[in-house]
Amino acid sequence: MAEERTLQYHILRGKDKIGENLIEVSYGEARILVELGKALDGGETLSELEREVLKKKYDAVFVSHYHADHAGLIEEKRDCPVYIGAGARRILEAMDEYRGKSLPPNIRPYHSGRAYHVGGIGVTPYLCDHSAFDSYMLLFEAGGKHILYTGDFRFHGRKNSEKLLSHLPKKVDTLISEGTNLGGDKPCFPESELEERAVGLIKSTRGPVYVLQAASNIDRIVSFYRAAKRCGRIFYEDIYTALLATAAGGGIPRPDEFEDVFAFTPRPVRGKRRDILFEIKQKRGLAGIVKGAPFVMLVRPSMLGFLKKLQEKIALGGGILIYSMWSGYREKEDVAAFLEEASRLGLKEHTLHTSGHADGKALARLKTCIAADEYVTVHSEGKK
Ligand SMILES: [Zn+2]
Ligand SMILES: [Zn+2]
Repeated sequence: MAEERTLQYHILRGKDKIGENLIEVSYGEARILVELGKALDGGETLSELEREVLKKKYDAVFVSHYHADHAGLIEEKRDCPVYIGAGARRILEAMDEYRGKSLPPNIRPYHSGRAYHVGGIGVTPYLCDHSAFDSYMLLFEAGGKHILYTGDFRFHGRKNSEKLLSHLPKKVDTLISEGTNLGGDKPCFPESELEERAVGLIKSTRGPVYVLQAASNIDRIVSFYRAAKRCGRIFYEDIYTALLATAAGGGIPRPDEFEDVFAFTPRPVRGKRRDILFEIKQKRGLAGIVKGAPFVMLVRPSMLGFLKKLQEKIALGGGILIYSMWSGYREKEDVAAFLEEASRLGLKEHTLHTSGHADGKALARLKTCIAADEYVTVHSEGKK
């Protein structure tokens, strides 16, 4: 007797917490793992569940984007093909290059709107907007059933959400949606408005403008670059950020392709990092930055020593530090120390951030456009 086959899903982790997603999708004998999230507080040690999925036999893994709570274990799974967006894969490659490593060969690129077939399951990725570059929603179909998994997304970014909605199916059996902002009060205003507010802040500032943001938040780099340009300031990226921006390519601001973007290094570099720096033509050292035109500079907590040296040499002093990350990161030891020292250096702090996740309006719009027999929330601590 033929085995009865239905497209099924099983949420292994990520149902009642923000991130760390691990989901299984199966159809008969075919089994796909969706996401390879790592427990964010797990450190180097793997949990029992993590060890289990790394050992278990899957036909393929599909990862929605490169944030660690979705892809933290991506390099640990070597026994089957692991798919991630082509652009996201380039970013992972660049991150590895900076660390002197190389990406395992079983990590392969997928492309938006193209269907992939794994043992009778069709998988189609759809590019969406999120605070990670090249993020996707994933549609699974088999035996006439459809499951849409949203990954992490938002509708208030620069990408056209209506265009995405027009490509997605109008009806699915199960819609698995992220719900990070459910019951929360995180700021969710358009990325374009963030650029406007940044212009306001930069215009009213004498002295340097430093921005504390994630190097992997490529859309945020675009916002601050555009704001800097509109205020006649040059834009500095450290070599790690410049490497990621170069991997992203296209219209992303980066040294050598944009005349007003320069690379810098907060400390002397050796080995592979020196090679990376060597390849960049538009770069400046401390003296060049001090003598050069007014600027906006992306910084990270590890650059505290460099920031101190720079502030000591800049005759006018003053300046501002724009905090552009989730407020929870303020509690991290290195971030807290950085903010405290920046204030001691005379930098006035301003918070300017908008969430990378869907707000209530976006979740409602998604539900209106896609009828689902079953609606499941993951990646959430809020009320369901
Ligand atoms: Zn996430
Ligand atoms: Zn994410």
